[in-house]
Amino acid sequence: MRRQRKTKIIATLGPASSSPEMVEKLYLAGVDVFRLNFSHGDHSDHKERVSIIRKLETELGRPIGILADLQGPKIRVGTFAEGPVLLEKGQEFTLDLDDKAGDPSRVSLPHPQVLASLEDGSTLLLDDGKLELKVTKASPTKAVCTVVIGGKLSDRKGVNIPDAIIQMSPLTDKDRKDLDYALELGVDWIALSFVQRGEDIAEIKKIVAGRAGVMAKIEKPSAVDNLDDIVELADALMVARGDLGVEVPIQKVPSLQKRIITRAKNAGKPVVVATQMLESMISAPVPTRAEVTDVANAIYDGTDAVMLSAESAAGDYPVEAVSTMNDIAEETELDSNYRIVMDASHASPEATTADAISAAALQVADTIQASAIVTYTTSGSTALRAARERGTAPILALTPSIRTARRLALSWGLHCVHTADAENFADMVEKACNISFREEYARPGERIVIMAGVPFGTPGSTNILRIAWVGEKTLSRM
Ligand code: PEP
Repeated sequence: MRRQRKTKIIATLGPASSSPEMVEKLYLAGVDVFRLNFSHGDHSDHKERVSIIRKLETELGRPIGILADLQGPKIRVGTFAEGPVLLEKGQEFTLDLDDKAGDPSRVSLPHPQVLASLEDGSTLLLDDGKLELKVTKASPTKAVCTVVIGGKLSDRKGVNIPDAIIQMSPLTDKDRKDLDYALELGVDWIALSFVQRGEDIAEIKKIVAGRAGVMAKIEKPSAVDNLDDIVELADALMVARGDLGVEVPIQKVPSLQKRIITRAKNAGKPVVVATQMLESMISAPVPTRAEVTDVANAIYDGTDAVMLSAESAAGDYPVEAVSTMNDIAEETELDSNYRIVMDASHASPEATTADAISAAALQVADTIQASAIVTYTTSGSTALRAARERGTAPILALTPSIRTARRLALSWGLHCVHTADAENFADMVEKACNISFREEYARPGERIVIMAGVPFGTPGSTNILRIAWVGEKTLSRM
């Protein structure tokens, strides 16, 4: 079950991919983390998917991550009385709180906080940015607008307001119910959509209370402005390029992707690049050259994971899309230029024992050409610091916590193994050697570098670096 790449793959499950056979095929093709998109499907769909994944996990003996992606405060217009309307450039169009069905002159915008946040001159983008309105007269109950870019507008289309901070909770009533349910199902990561500031992350973390990692989806200009706070408070980030490309001028998406990856990587927090990575594979068995290059470029940027959305959830070629990502990642990571970029761009160690030991372990592993680094980790924090180094040697993260093993499945370069903690020095070495061999990371006669903490079993105590030979003796006891 050894993957031949360090970048991880996330695949969204949906109608095209939720049978036990398909989930297994996707895992075998390369999925490390499955995403449940709470914008679609009901609770029973998600429950069924979680149970299929956990059953597969038991059968294969490998930890698998599950990410629950909450819809967040997605703003939508109401419905129209007589089907879609055509808005002409220059005409007046009003958004209001009246729940009456819309017509060519108005439609409901059932979000009082949104109307309260608008000002004269605010820009509204509708239907993924296809239509643009400018507010000419803002008030708490309605916004009279002029159509800047016209087009067809139909029921419940999304509204983006790039240039305003909306005074609304980052969690809608639906999100709160979905969050409780996802936590009950025991998911490993919760992704929060339309994060605007650090306080949004603090609010959800209070509810999650450590039961899952919290991932901030960066898709609003306000989140970019508050990136430092968000990076500090979130456990992981996602470059959510779908809505981001509507909320900011689309040509800014590549530079923001690089900025978000760099900030997250420097902080030692996993980061995911998402949306339209292999979009054409929704209906074709091979991707475009541009898509292949986009996936490779995210990998050269040092992302922890690349993500599939509709390609795996609703496309005709879910397994092929995962295999394609797997092949691109393997090939890109073999490029000598990839190593040069990783070596040149990783952050310096901070003045902590965990960073000092991690940096030393990678250096020792390089010097002696060790086959792997083995780290004993309880909360996962030491393994994350080792991954932050973006080193050459593969890293095995041994943890007594299945939750940590599943959560770390998202992180660059970590191969997680759920196993009991080391009891003493001899056990630490023996277990590390045996598991490195069993998981196909080291053969007899090769060396591994072990990181651990003494007293054993004490979280946060990493203070040991040990070189060990994988020998016949240890293997004979397996
Ligand atoms: C995105 O907007 O890029 C994204 C990942 O979020 P969603 O799929 O929920 O739109």
